[in-house]
Amino acid sequence: MESTLRSQTVPINPREIKKHSVLSQKCPICKQEISFGVEHGFLEKVERYPYPHVILHGDPLHALIVYIDADFLIRGADTARSIEIHRNSNTFSQIIKKWSNPY
Ligand SMILES: [Zn+2]
Repeated sequence: MESTLRSQTVPINPREIKKHSVLSQKCPICKQEISFGVEHGFLEKVERYPYPHVILHGDPLHALIVYIDADFLIRGADTARSIEIHRNSNTFSQIIKKWSNPY
């Protein structure tokens, strides 16, 4: 019984929880509430806050750009209707990789 209790009281790092949180933001272009997350471990690599996170979506395709701070809160948002995706195999394989494992 005591060992069960001990296993349930493992300290939880709040930043670990935040990393797995999903945020959402209303897109000013399509008016949809867009939910998104950030890849596990990404916050540790960020050098400057707030950092931009781009969510491609919609028809026609456009981008919602949210600026996320160190506390995993949205500090601002922007959009882009003008999008270009390089047509080469490396970019294509990276898009497929992202698609299959979005976070
Ligand atoms: Zn949109």
